[in-house]
Amino acid sequence: MSWTDNIRKITPYVPGEQPKNPDVVKLNTNENPYPPSPKVSKVLKSISQDYDVLRKYPDADMSILVDALSRTYDLDPDCVFAGVGSDDVLAMSFLTFFNSDKPVLFPDVTYSFYPVWADLFGIKYKEIPVRDDFTIDPDAYLQPNGGIVIANPNAPTSIYLGLDHIEKIVKNNPDSVVIIDEAYIDFGGQSALPLIHTYDNLLVVRTFSKSRSLAGARIGMAFGCSKLISYLRDVKFSINSYTMSHDVLRIGTASLEDEEYFTEITSRVIDTRNKAAVKLNELGFTCLPSATNFLFVTHASRNAKEIFTALKERNIYIRYFNLPRIDNYLRITVGTPEEMEKLYDALKTILN
Ligand code: PMP
Repeated sequence: MSWTDNIRKITPYVPGEQPKNPDVVKLNTNENPYPPSPKVSKVLKSISQDYDVLRKYPDADMSILVDALSRTYDLDPDCVFAGVGSDDVLAMSFLTFFNSDKPVLFPDVTYSFYPVWADLFGIKYKEIPVRDDFTIDPDAYLQPNGGIVIANPNAPTSIYLGLDHIEKIVKNNPDSVVIIDEAYIDFGGQSALPLIHTYDNLLVVRTFSKSRSLAGARIGMAFGCSKLISYLRDVKFSINSYTMSHDVLRIGTASLEDEEYFTEITSRVIDTRNKAAVKLNELGFTCLPSATNFLFVTHASRNAKEIFTALKERNIYIRYFNLPRIDNYLRITVGTPEEMEKLYDALKTILN
């Protein structure tokens, strides 16, 4: 007998690399290539003046951010929850809503954090195979389950599932909570958000990390009927009342006050993504249809891992997942047009 016998052992999620060298072309963690709104910069400057506020605990109800979110998305504040990135919100949601003897369903190719949270919290799960073209088969989610989580658009496939299919899944599973993880929805596709008014079992999770260029601030949110959100709040207040700092609450609020900038940078990313798909096709890649800020690609004749390694040697970081079904694919985050030119140049050399 040893103390190690009583440890909660878990194989953790492995986040994308954050290289120390500032000169790399970083297309590996789906960050936004543009800076956050100038309104965020103003808040950061004012923080140095107001530093005495750090003596006190932050507002546990996160009111300024929750109120700003409720104004932005035209919802009652009781329908809004916020947390330290959508990872925090999703982890708490798994803990809150997935508490059944039946398995939670999610696609076999999806965000690789889902099985980690399920294992950590002792939640049974069943992975539902995506079709050969990597699309989600909505009918496969019409079977007994203890909850459902679907990333839409899905990651790392980048493919969007139509809202009618999402609605079918939510409607036909009235006894389960269905979580739709919309981390990438601002880059394409229609959000399931309006459906929360019709279905009390739907939770929509979003993030400031991608479309609002705030991955470093760690802000995520969830929307659902007030009853669903109240259960989520109960779990949050049973773990850590003060998840979000004063400063981050102000940063998130400032970002929401600049919708013009938000629209501008998301359209730029979408434009670069569409051009990149054409360019990568010319270089012999097949790109899955992307509704996100990244492209999921495979090359007709060259091995994905070799391309990944050769790019890294040239200080260009993309993401490779050594996982079943996708081990010959690469995920490339959309950068600035200049960064993408560097990628194409390097690929031309490597592929020749
Ligand atoms: N969901 C999906 C599908 C993601 O790809 C990510 C980013 N790794 C997240 C959630 C979490 O993002 P964040 O914690 O930065 O909000």
